[in-house]
Amino acid sequence: MRLVSSTGERPRVVVIGGGVAGLEALLALRTLAGQRVELELISPHPSFHYRPLAVAEAFGAKPSSTLELSAVAADADAEYIQDAVVEIKAGTRSLRLASSRVCNYDALIVAPGARPAEAIPGATTFGLPGSAQRFRTILAEAEANTINRLVFAVPVPVGWSLALYELALLTTERLRSCGARAEVRIVTPEAAPLAVFGGRASGAVLEELEDHGIHFMPGLLPRQVAWGELRCDPGEVRIPTDAVIALPKLLGPDLGGLPRDPEGFLCADAHGLVRGLTDVYAAGDAISFPIKHGGLAAQQAEAVAEAIAARVGVPIHPEPFRPVIRGMLMTGDRPRYLESGIAGGESEPGEISLRPLWWPPSKIAGRYLAPYLMGQVPVPPATPGGVPVETVIGT
Ligand SMILES: Cc1cc2nc3c(=O)[nH]c(=O)nc-3n(C[C@H](O)[C@H](O)[C@H](O)COP(=O)(O)OP(=O)(O)OC[C@H]3O[C@@H](n4cnc5c(N)ncnc54)[C@H](O)[C@@H]3O)c2cc1C
Repeated sequence: MRLVSSTGERPRVVVIGGGVAGLEALLALRTLAGQRVELELISPHPSFHYRPLAVAEAFGAKPSSTLELSAVAADADAEYIQDAVVEIKAGTRSLRLASSRVCNYDALIVAPGARPAEAIPGATTFGLPGSAQRFRTILAEAEANTINRLVFAVPVPVGWSLALYELALLTTERLRSCGARAEVRIVTPEAAPLAVFGGRASGAVLEELEDHGIHFMPGLLPRQVAWGELRCDPGEVRIPTDAVIALPKLLGPDLGGLPRDPEGFLCADAHGLVRGLTDVYAAGDAISFPIKHGGLAAQQAEAVAEAIAARVGVPIHPEPFRPVIRGMLMTGDRPRYLESGIAGGESEPGEISLRPLWWPPSKIAGRYLAPYLMGQVPVPPATPGGVPVETVIGT
């Protein structure tokens, strides 16, 4: 259905969220639709946060420079409003912002991400405020042999576990280099390491873990840390430990007015169209797709941008979201590149390589944002283990 403007001007497309999905959608739509649309970006924090670098930063890499959303918006010839959306009123095609301002749209792209929360009580939840400092304290204690048993735990549901594998691998590298003797375990509900990338990649990652002396414990659902033990289901398994580092669970966005699944995530079809609505699209960690991953967020945003571009008269056949998951695993040595298609909820055999399997070879792969970031984000010199950060983000 053709997208028309309610004011007689160009259709106004509003993007909620200045993260991976929001920026990919903004850049894609300007590229595909040219000046056929007006674009507006709404996001409460003035800068873009490149989350994968949190792991390198936990090992002492300098924080990456920030990218101002006002600058990205200007490059995309879009208006930037620094505010949070509180409610979407699809009936009147309007939004209520935290400042009480009301904005109108002709098409809306909802990409506010997910909200991280503690999943395993008693663990240090990596990604919550203050967790990087707590992790550094644990690492220093292990280096000093004050603590000897570290567990890295993946909670259910498994959204994106690669960062935890990196933390474990980089920790063992660090401990080895200073002669510390702590034992390191990964406890996960996954049947195999990074199972989402398929059997071939999993097998290679298992060898990598073994080379690092990491004890891999699959098929366990970590529940809580108490009395020096990580307790897991099924079977009330108890793993003695001095410290547990866990990933957060993710909750749906705090936004009123849209249909959600039971966990609070937005329900969208393969073109990103929100269930039951005609002009509201959604992409990224906020939607009900089970894997929460920047590269997939970008692919979802591209599907949305193509769908809207077609509706404003661009002669393209909009492609649906066909997930291909790409991950760069920092090991302390050279990074490993992993890639797999996901069809019908199942991973294909997948690839793992020391050579980049996509270009630019960045942590978050995306057709529009990744090349844009190559020229935009100045990077610090090196991550631990000699992995240059420019390899990590792709500059
Ligand atoms: C430690 C770590 C490592 C990771 N490593 C990788 C990796 O190597 N590769 C990879 O592909 N992915 C990785 N990810 C996952 C990736 O970062 C996320 O999947 C991705 O950021 C999701 O993008 P998004 O745009 O949906 O959400 P976000 O990036 O979270 O962006 C959401 C945006 O919406 C804004 N917002 C929130 N609420 C509102 C509101 N009410 N109104 C307006 N704006 C709002 C936020 O301020 C933010 O700008 C990693 C994640 C973590 C935590």
